[in-house]
Amino acid sequence: MARGNKADALAAWDKKYVWHPFTQQADWVKEEPVVVESARGWHFKDTRGRRYLDGVSSLWVNVHGHGEPALNAALRRQLKKMAHVTFLGLTHEPAVRLARELVRLAPRGLTRVFYSDNGSTAVEVAMKMAFQYGAQREGHVRRSEFFALANSYHGDTLGSVSVGGIGLFHKRFRPLLFKTHFGLSPSCPRCPFNRLKKTNCLYPLRGKRTGVLPKPGDLRRETGCRWECLASAEKIFRARRDRLAAAVVEPAVQAAAGMLVMPPGYLRGLERLCRRYGVLLIADEVATGFGRTGTMFAVQHEGVRPDLMCVSKSITGGTLPLAATLAREEIYRAFLGRYEEFKTFFHGHTYTANPLACAAALANLRLYRTRRLLRRLTPRIRLLRSWLEGVASLPAVGSVRQIGLMAGVELVRKKNGMRPFPPELKMGQRVCRAARAGGLWIRPLSDIIVILPPLALPAPMFRRMLGVIRESIRQTVPPAERPL
Ligand SMILES: *Cc1c(COP(=O)(O)O)cnc(C)c1O
Repeated sequence: MARGNKADALAAWDKKYVWHPFTQQADWVKEEPVVVESARGWHFKDTRGRRYLDGVSSLWVNVHGHGEPALNAALRRQLKKMAHVTFLGLTHEPAVRLARELVRLAPRGLTRVFYSDNGSTAVEVAMKMAFQYGAQREGHVRRSEFFALANSYHGDTLGSVSVGGIGLFHKRFRPLLFKTHFGLSPSCPRCPFNRLKKTNCLYPLRGKRTGVLPKPGDLRRETGCRWECLASAEKIFRARRDRLAAAVVEPAVQAAAGMLVMPPGYLRGLERLCRRYGVLLIADEVATGFGRTGTMFAVQHEGVRPDLMCVSKSITGGTLPLAATLAREEIYRAFLGRYEEFKTFFHGHTYTANPLACAAALANLRLYRTRRLLRRLTPRIRLLRSWLEGVASLPAVGSVRQIGLMAGVELVRKKNGMRPFPPELKMGQRVCRAARAGGLWIRPLSDIIVILPPLALPAPMFRRMLGVIRESIRQTVPPAERPL
């Protein structure tokens, strides 16, 4: 088939047969889809020969670029041995080695690895473990409720939707969900108490004084903040302390809600509350894990040690689906007993610990080590920081947020008061479309431009990407709608 004909045929069949995730199909079928043919390095190419820089790491998963030879070689080596065998009643080298490696990298205390195959299930597993742990430790079912944060996102299966706090995605399913108490979202630009005293959230860069955080009092001096977000969590903990199975949080940044970076110190404060009230802490590191925030895991910025931790997205460097839930030994031990006591964790997925995915993850993590990837992020984290500081002064930019190589730029109609654009203007989408014309593929979260490059993206390429974004914002926001 000629190239043009093939592209047309695929586009037509897509519109005829496929239903896309998080997509209004009525809009989708009106537009020409980008049919990706291949991806190499930092770019992918469509069936019409156009090339795009993959600016959101293929939805936050790609690390070393596409077609990374070391990952492909690991996959080919594993494929020669086996593609898949069940993990129910069997084990294999890639899964065993990967579990050992994950425990080595994880915050201290997390010693057991339970595999699944996507972020949502990793969260489901953690919640089921927390629930069953509570029941088995205390001898009766009492802890069947969860604490989560407004604006949180933990996946799309019903358990993870139950702890989701994004109205647009989650509210309609409320009748199907279990009981969750939502604490105030620790996001300064959204704070109902200190309205707009602090519209930007730039998490402290890690320098020589690694691990030193601003004191809670600093924020108070700056904005008059009284940590109402922590107080709202404490109020729930105090009232439901005997009912809560766990608190589930995205550490340091609520990513899907629009890169809402938490004020430094919140996470540590929440951990303290969990300990004080005897509530397990589940860290959902699905988005933040494996270096995206500048440390291997986001909890490590504040020395927080969760009881359960969920990882997925970047784990295989963006090659295959895989997830894991890490647990403390004490939790694991509560599931031990004679078979007929039925303390077993009755949960498992058909493709649990798929050997190909585990081999890819091992090769991926080896590259982190041999290429000293995390240490080499610092210059680009700084580059992003100074670019954001510049962009923050644009008339259409209401707020910029950053932690590590995760950032969000929020577009507003009126800077003063952060007045949003009407949703029907689809401002975020329009900026991203303009970027596409400049050869950059990015996806907005409503009117928030998400910046999440593959971790190894070289600085010159990153600089070019940031240039395209700035220019796209400048071009797209029409002068009439600019304030001042
Ligand atoms: C993406 C994401 C999930 C869900 O992962 P899936 O693989 O899409 O199911 C869960 N939690 C967080 C924080 C995420 O960003």
